[in-house]
Amino acid sequence: MEKTKCLIIGSGPAGFTAAIYASRAGLAPILYEGLQPGGQLTTTGEIENFPGYVDGVTGIKMMDDLRRQAIRFGADVRPGAATSCDLSTSPFKIIIDRTKLIEAQTVIISTGACAKYLGLEDEKKYAGQGVSACATCDGFFYRRKTVAVVGGGDSACEEALYLAGLAEKVYLIVRKDYLRASKIMQERVLDHPKIETLFNTNAIGFFGEHGVQGAHLVRFMGEENEKQFDIAVDGIFLAIGHTPNSLIFKNFLDLDETGYIKTVPGTPKTKIPGVFAAGDVADPNYRQAITAAGSGCAAAIEAERFIAISSGN
Ligand code: NDP
Repeated sequence: MEKTKCLIIGSGPAGFTAAIYASRAGLAPILYEGLQPGGQLTTTGEIENFPGYVDGVTGIKMMDDLRRQAIRFGADVRPGAATSCDLSTSPFKIIIDRTKLIEAQTVIISTGACAKYLGLEDEKKYAGQGVSACATCDGFFYRRKTVAVVGGGDSACEEALYLAGLAEKVYLIVRKDYLRASKIMQERVLDHPKIETLFNTNAIGFFGEHGVQGAHLVRFMGEENEKQFDIAVDGIFLAIGHTPNSLIFKNFLDLDETGYIKTVPGTPKTKIPGVFAAGDVADPNYRQAITAAGSGCAAAIEAERFIAISSGN
């Protein structure tokens, strides 16, 4: 068993920013990086909207910079994932990798979120054989091929644009008659000569002998003019949103219907004093690197205050 003043779970922009602030405040935080060190940004391409990076930066570079900055101030950054916890009494007990017990005075949960799937049997059947939720990870395999991206938000547009740089043709499959993405992303997608956007269209299955060779689609699903048709594609990329990684905390904290940890509005405070949630795991609205970093900062400041009050300083 090991004790710490501040345990940070997760290593996206929220976790590392919390680690930078907590280290500088003298809390000697321990940060466990989780199953995906660096978080979702390591699977994204260029980040163009993080203030200060005038020419953009790759997700991998930004996370490496944040990690090194946290370590520079003394954060103890470790591999490993929290697998269970007991937040019912203080100090809080967190089990890492099913074996190691950590007792923490404060916990900052910054476990992020994971990509959602449509729930089709074919997604499992063709996992790793043409179905992916990460264009940056797998796009390389589709150079000069035809692919489809499912979704109509910023992620889907970003994936479609990234893939259009590699593939011969990209279909964007959007279930509504509009894109939910930001205006600039919509324009880039709709103006791109290699991207064909299929509005009012759902993917209901995939087919192929050895890996994906096409997708079964339905236009105007459930309506009078519903029409089924197939397209030939070599790969399908899902970009339909995310599920927060909050499962191990569900017996202790309040979650919303999707699983996002509920916090006191405008703060990273959960219903348990000393336990804070920052970044995508608690943010159904913004989910940006910059907002995650901001909430990580706030969580570390709150952790410092909590410890100061608890110790009577
Ligand atoms: P969103 O929730 O914004 O969009 C999800 C999209 O997937 C919507 O078009 C939705 O359709 C569609 N969808 C959801 N479920 C299904 C389904 N079962 N079948 C078909 N389509 C489905 O998620 P994103 O991941 O795109 O974005 C999340 C947040 O992150 C947003 O706030 C976004 O702005 C932000 N983001 C910002 C980026 C940037 O600034 N560079 C890059 C990526 C994301 P419908 O509209 O019909 O609900």
